[in-house]
Amino acid sequence: MGGAFSLGRIFGIQFRIHYSWFIIFVLITVSLSWEYFPYTYPEWSMTTYWLTGIGTSLLFFTSVVAHELAHSLVGRANGIPVKSITLFLFGGVAHMTREATRHGAEFRMALAGPVASLVIGGIFFLLHLLLQGISEPVAALAFWLAQINAVLALFNLIPGFPLDGGRVFRSLLWRFTGNYRSATRVAVEVGRGVGYLFMAGGIVLMFLYPKNWFNGLWLACIGLFLSYMATASYRQAQWQAALQGVRAADVMTTTCPVVSPDMTISRLVQDYIYLSGHRCFMVTDGGELRGILTLQNIRSVDQKSWDTTSVGDMMTPSERLKVAQPGEEVLSVLEQMEEYSISQMPVVSEGRIIGLVVRDDIVRLLYARSRLGI
Ligand SMILES: [Zn+2]
Repeated sequence: MGGAFSLGRIFGIQFRIHYSWFIIFVLITVSLSWEYFPYTYPEWSMTTYWLTGIGTSLLFFTSVVAHELAHSLVGRANGIPVKSITLFLFGGVAHMTREATRHGAEFRMALAGPVASLVIGGIFFLLHLLLQGISEPVAALAFWLAQINAVLALFNLIPGFPLDGGRVFRSLLWRFTGNYRSATRVAVEVGRGVGYLFMAGGIVLMFLYPKNWFNGLWLACIGLFLSYMATASYRQAQWQAALQGVRAADVMTTTCPVVSPDMTISRLVQDYIYLSGHRCFMVTDGGELRGILTLQNIRSVDQKSWDTTSVGDMMTPSERLKVAQPGEEVLSVLEQMEEYSISQMPVVSEGRIIGLVVRDDIVRLLYARSRLGI
């Protein structure tokens, strides 16, 4: 996810905040301090409303992170590495580097989040009971957090992919039918259906209760997001299935001619691309690798400036290159390209560049495989 910054690591997992999170943080804090607490406890002071509101809101997002952390730690214990947890507009998301390959692992990992939310909700409910006579604001904070964590657990258990409940549902279908693909398809269809239901419900709510239009709008937005995520995660699951087991060495181009950084783009196009169709070039100067140039780099220059632009101006310099191992899975290569916004990665074996993986080549492979229905 672009537009996020890192706050450090928890249990070795990167913890990130997306800028859109600030919107929801402010919305929740204001609605607690401005509406919920003043309405429920009219006798508190303004300072108490705001301090309790901010504290409740922060603890709410801490609960969301704990929910994602539960997924991540159970996932990791089941051999699914987790790179990062990100808080954003619609809550939290844990970023796995790949999907589960066994239904048992998926089942445990998906269920871990809602179970954690229920446990956290239970703890806050106990705190609420214990603190009732001691501090009303803290007891009220604990009560709201107990409720919201229960809601969080129940909402996530709705059986539409990619919600946790949808993943549990898929793992069960997968277990009983033995077919990962059809299980995914069914869970995704249900997920899309749930999204549409939320959208419809939100719109109805807006018309029935115009005073609470915001709640309706919010519900419709969540529905839109869910149906979008269902479609996107289906596409991703298809990609992952299509690229399973493909290694960097299988898709790399090994015929990248060596060119000098001083050569102009028009010369390069004339000598190497028009006639022989080369798509990647190693730029060396006195035998030393200076960078790599691909068609993508060339495409970003206006054709009128080809005469005055040199290969050295347009190449990706070697210090900015990320490299891949020949045995590395193409899926992981593609993810790194995504993460660093690059479109090529040299494949290095024993300190020598043996080829180049270009994003277009992976896309072409995906396309060819999907055309054949593989
Ligand atoms: Zn979850």
